[in-house]
Amino acid sequence: MSEQGISNLSTEDRHFDPPADLAAHANLKAEAYERAANDRLGFWAEQAERISWGTPYDEVLDWSNPPFAKWFVGGTLNASYNCVDRHVEAGKGDKVALHWVGEPADDTRDITYAELKDEVSRAANALEELGIVAGDRVAIYLPMIPEAVIAMLACARLGAPHTVIFGGFSADALASRIIDCEAKLVITSDGGYRRGAAAALKPAVDEALIKIDNSNTGLVENVLVVRRTGQDVAFNSDIDVWWHELVDESSEDHTPEMFDSEHPLYVMYTSGTTGKPKGILHTTGGYMVGCTYTYWAVFDTKPETDIYWCTADVGWVTGHSYIVYGPLANGVTQVMYEGTPDTPHKGRWWEIIQDLKVTQFYTAPTAIRTFMKWGEQIPADFDLSSLRLLGSVGESINPEAYMWYREHIGGDKAPIVDTWWQTETGSIMISPLPGVTSGKPGSAMTPLPGIAADVVDDSGKPVGNGEGGYLVVTEPWPSMLRTIWGDDERFKETYWSRFKNMYFAGDGAKKDDDGDIWLMGRVDDVMNVSGHRLSTTEIESALVSHPKVAEAAVVGATDDMTGQAPVAFVILRESAGDGGADVVQELRDHVAKEIGAIAKPKRILVVAELPKTRSGKIMRRLLRDVAENRTVGDATTLADSSVMDLISSGMKTGK
Ligand code: ATP
Ligand code: MG
Repeated sequence: MSEQGISNLSTEDRHFDPPADLAAHANLKAEAYERAANDRLGFWAEQAERISWGTPYDEVLDWSNPPFAKWFVGGTLNASYNCVDRHVEAGKGDKVALHWVGEPADDTRDITYAELKDEVSRAANALEELGIVAGDRVAIYLPMIPEAVIAMLACARLGAPHTVIFGGFSADALASRIIDCEAKLVITSDGGYRRGAAAALKPAVDEALIKIDNSNTGLVENVLVVRRTGQDVAFNSDIDVWWHELVDESSEDHTPEMFDSEHPLYVMYTSGTTGKPKGILHTTGGYMVGCTYTYWAVFDTKPETDIYWCTADVGWVTGHSYIVYGPLANGVTQVMYEGTPDTPHKGRWWEIIQDLKVTQFYTAPTAIRTFMKWGEQIPADFDLSSLRLLGSVGESINPEAYMWYREHIGGDKAPIVDTWWQTETGSIMISPLPGVTSGKPGSAMTPLPGIAADVVDDSGKPVGNGEGGYLVVTEPWPSMLRTIWGDDERFKETYWSRFKNMYFAGDGAKKDDDGDIWLMGRVDDVMNVSGHRLSTTEIESALVSHPKVAEAAVVGATDDMTGQAPVAFVILRESAGDGGADVVQELRDHVAKEIGAIAKPKRILVVAELPKTRSGKIMRRLLRDVAENRTVGDATTLADSSVMDLISSGMKTGK
């Protein structure tokens, strides 16, 4: 094992070939890799044909001032036009864009492309009425209701960058994002449904406006409020405006203006697993090309027959690229669901797939592990045979979770695309191609055609096969972030200073003997045990491969003997009960057997929940605080902040 690279401990060797019929009709075939490698910019120019331009661009890429890229220079377009109008103009207005499923089970709404165009146009006219012009920032704080998509597209239509803030975030998180991007308008709702009850949203906006001292700073001029639940809300008629009074009364005619390819489309804050969230800026042309192409290639979309469903929240980048911009630009029919997976019962997602005959399904490993915890008999009660492709995003999928997903959801036939990307990358970067790649459980496989990514050592040299190091992107790509909002220096420092002329993603990775890429967790989370650099991902996957374990989080805690020692927090499967008296010893031995004594956790705590961000990522830095007996750090982006209190008290009592 090398002292520099991350030690390679896993021994996974299963793989699955693409189903023959999918391979035969795949959108993107193997030859695309070579074509893109020979002429990368020419390949991207071909992909740019997937969207509609107002004026054509003059130059594919201007990289004269790195790391500040300009893509499709001189071209103009409108993102909203690309997502709605052009499908209506092409005669597909009657096609359903959104099968929206509310949480109250009988509350559903089908919206065609023609209806979506009218709604977006009305909203755009309404925003103009409120004085929103190109360049103004608009904060969107909504539950998973159609108005979230409509509001985003209305902003895009006006060239007013949106910043969508997850509806579960607190007033503090909302205030700091409004201040950071100086939003002029907030779009929210009275509330939304969660776990069978109406939960309020509007009070958090009111509180945020007090926190930002709105009467002095004058940031937010208006709050546009959707009535979703009908619950009572405080209404300040100086600034609050009802959506149904303004938008519903506005005209459905709105001519989209064409904006420069580099016009800002949105600012999205990262999930904050490793520190203070960063406002990532995406612009229009390159981003639209990236989402449209990757959605088409990775999900092998056949818009005439497919029904796609991504379970992400629109408050996360996955919702931006793979609910709003990518799928809608491709003109597909998709499902959008308001509620949680366990309301009104734990089979709700599978019931939706069965009822709407979903063909492609995109979710996160954290969700899959939750279903593993609940047991396979739950999905077994539903007909999931319509599924032809499964996707995973957000963190490495543990091989055991991959196998479970494949077998119990995918009927042992649907290929799984494990998609690696980030808020910063805008669209998928590393993933199997479903009709080409022989997928391996736990590996994101290879960069997509058009993307140049590699694994390098400390000095920036590519590692050999079978070695670990740092994941980098070595050439610019269309949907790359353009900067951190208002902070060019932090942009350069964070992503472009670690290695010369390369984008450093912050993730550890390794290449296996075939050169396929395995993500190994954040480099900030890598631990150093007696001089060996161990990845969190591999120890966690070893724990999850034990039949009693559903989820695991591993951190390195300071240790007098070994420098750092692995400490594990595990959630047991429901079928395991309390695990039995010796469960901790059993799991320690299991890790030693699976990957070696060096990785054996010094302590294992059985917990009921793990601290997660809203996108389902485990916040290991908080667990490290607990394991090292420190005060727990900034937890404002946690989905449920009470989780940390439980874990801290469990740590103290040794339970
Ligand atoms: P912050 O940068 O503030 O800590 P974040 O990185 O969690 O937030 P995102 O941009 O949503 O915010 O997450 C991107 C990260 O998610 C990647 O850097 C990687 O660590 C992880 N990730 C996403 N998809 C995968 C995947 N398929 N396999 C492994 N890791 C993944
Ligand atoms: Mg990140």
